[in-house]
Amino acid sequence: MLLQKPKGTQDILPKESARWQYVEGLVRELFAQYNYAEIRTPMFEHYEVISRSVGDTTDIVTKEMYDFYDKGDRHITLRPEGTAPVVRSYVENKLFAPEVQKPVKLYYMGPMFRYERPQAGRLRQFHQIGVEAFGSSNPATDVETIAMAYHLFAKLGIANVTLHLNTLGTPASRAAYRQALIDYLTPLKDQLSKDSQRRLAENPLRVLDSKEKEDKLAVEKAPSILDYLDEESQAHFEAVREMLEALGIPYVIDTKMVRGLDYYNHTIFEFITPLEGNELTVCAGGRYDGLVEYFGGPATPAFGFGLGVERLLMILDKQNLLPDRTPRLDVYVAVLGPAANSKALELVQAIRKQGYSAERDVLDRKLKAQFKSADSLGAKLILTLGDTEVDTEVVTIKNNQSRQEMQVTFDQLRTDMTGILDKLS
Ligand code: ATP
Ligand code: MG
Repeated sequence: MLLQKPKGTQDILPKESARWQYVEGLVRELFAQYNYAEIRTPMFEHYEVISRSVGDTTDIVTKEMYDFYDKGDRHITLRPEGTAPVVRSYVENKLFAPEVQKPVKLYYMGPMFRYERPQAGRLRQFHQIGVEAFGSSNPATDVETIAMAYHLFAKLGIANVTLHLNTLGTPASRAAYRQALIDYLTPLKDQLSKDSQRRLAENPLRVLDSKEKEDKLAVEKAPSILDYLDEESQAHFEAVREMLEALGIPYVIDTKMVRGLDYYNHTIFEFITPLEGNELTVCAGGRYDGLVEYFGGPATPAFGFGLGVERLLMILDKQNLLPDRTPRLDVYVAVLGPAANSKALELVQAIRKQGYSAERDVLDRKLKAQFKSADSLGAKLILTLGDTEVDTEVVTIKNNQSRQEMQVTFDQLRTDMTGILDKLS
């Protein structure tokens, strides 16, 4: 029987994981520049952590949860997103305490789980990189966070991402708009898709960003949130726009954009890129000032975003922006005969302890095959250990490119790899 991975999951093999490491490394470096620190929360949470915060009417909670009852009969779910767990942790660990520096700027990266129909760019285990900043209601925080994502795309070399910006305003503005939307959509109910007829009752804003043709048509003339903003909402949105402009970050206002999650207010945004005739959202986020309080913490403004790593890699791949990382080994030790076997082990260990990379043959192969391995590993230096070398403790070491060579003692290999590499490069 051939066992296979579950549907919608991926094995990330070494050639591919090198690409992940490239992106993750760059992200860690960049986020540190913005004074973000990493938080690692569990892969699974109590079901309520997600269901109560993400919203009972979202696709995530109604259709996509990987939930189960554990052996202690606890209702558990694999985490489908990062924000709710981070907020849970923020409150549980009292990061709101006055002695903790504000704002608290946290980032995470890791697997998320959603029971979805797998297709291109849509998996059941996928990965997100996300950030959350707690404690600032300053629109400068909105803009700094958006600018960080923008900076990331620039650093990766991605050119054609467009920032889509919208606001949901204060809870009061959002509620007024919600009612206006219900009033507008109710007479059109029969023209809506089945899903949107349900959304109209439960979560009418979500009809706006439905992907169904009939829904798109129906909302074409829908009222705009921008006409329902109170003074505070307007001021916040204007400040965000001014600061984006001051930083030279282009954007389009997209009043049909809402968020799948229920806890947003004020600024929301997405970075969208064209991919094979489709629009692909690669990063999405916004402000969620009510969520910490909802989790039982003190009222705390917050702002964050999540970014799909698979989608990011897909874009980088399509645009040829992933550096080719051919392996680069410092030393390859070819091994001839049983006497050299344990000596080769001792020497590669000594080389590695000096901070260099080393590999050796363990398969008793012909020299020609061993040299081929050295080539494909990109070995800088190569040496061959046979009976004579083991006897004399002297070996010829060769630059695998220039063919320049010299004699070195085993002691030199054990203590002076830096000098040897210097002389042969
Ligand atoms: P969509 O409308 O595409 O389903 P969403 O609203 O469910 O997106 P979010 O919950 O905002 O997405 O998640 C943020 C990002 O995570 C998305 O923009 C996307 O890049 C990524 N993402 C979400 N679901 C998946 C998935 N099943 N497989 C791969 N990436 C995903
Ligand atoms: Mg989704």
